[in-house]
Amino acid sequence: MKLYIVGAGPGAPDLITVRGAALLAAADAIFYTDSLVSEELIERYRKPEADVFHTAGMHLEEMVAAMVEQAKQGRLVVRVHTGDPSIYGATLEQIAMLKEEGVEVEIVPGVSSAFAAAAAVQAELTVPELTQTVIFTRAEGRTPVPPRERLEELAKHHCTLVLFLSATLAKKVSAALLDAGWSGDTPAVIVYKATWPDERIIRTTVAAMAEEMRRHRVTKHAIMLIGWALDPSVHERGYRSRLYDRTFTHGYRKGEGQREQD
Ligand code: SAH
Repeated sequence: MKLYIVGAGPGAPDLITVRGAALLAAADAIFYTDSLVSEELIERYRKPEADVFHTAGMHLEEMVAAMVEQAKQGRLVVRVHTGDPSIYGATLEQIAMLKEEGVEVEIVPGVSSAFAAAAAVQAELTVPELTQTVIFTRAEGRTPVPPRERLEELAKHHCTLVLFLSATLAKKVSAALLDAGWSGDTPAVIVYKATWPDERIIRTTVAAMAEEMRRHRVTKHAIMLIGWALDPSVHERGYRSRLYDRTFTHGYRKGEGQREQD
């Protein structure tokens, strides 16, 4: 008995992986949360006779019981998660319970909304000599965040920050970063519903982001990308990666006038 957890990608139906789409097309039973995953995507790939279960109104036990029941009948069961299932997907508890029931799980990755948001603004989140690190996190709301991971702590790294699930907490995010010594003009990009037809991009700053989000009435389905990698004029600053530098030698290419190095 096996069940597939499939990453749907950020929203646009053609941003699911080829493997994910093939599984959806073959599925006898599909489980998904209609508030997060596009219905158009499910409708595009499902076979007409597949049973589709909306999980938004179900609690964990109910949902797992229904998935197990389907799998026990020998049907191909696909559980679709938004973006990539490994990021705030709440897959852990589902997998634990499925394992207990003797159902094997295979996960198919997806394009996270973090990457869809970066693509929407043509950003490289790791800019040479500026930052080589990205932190995926969330602001603390009803869900507690471990103290060592408070935004004030993470901000000390001055790297790129990607915030999920924090659209209603923009004020708190802004205050935490300013407290940690970030300058108010640090670029922040808010992408609402990345890759959906009603996608919206708000280019703002750490100081102004809360007000801007309020003005645009963005309170959910938004990713925040924050840091100097999001500088709107980053393409004019002449940053160059060593990877394509003509004097840089690596495993696949010998640089001009340089000795071999790893
Ligand atoms: N696993 C998902 C994240 C699930 S948590 C992923 O990899 O993208 C839900 C949060 O993801 C939302 O609060 C929002 O911050 C973000 N999100 C999901 N889809 C989004 C989209 N299309 N555009 C912007 N943010 C999105």
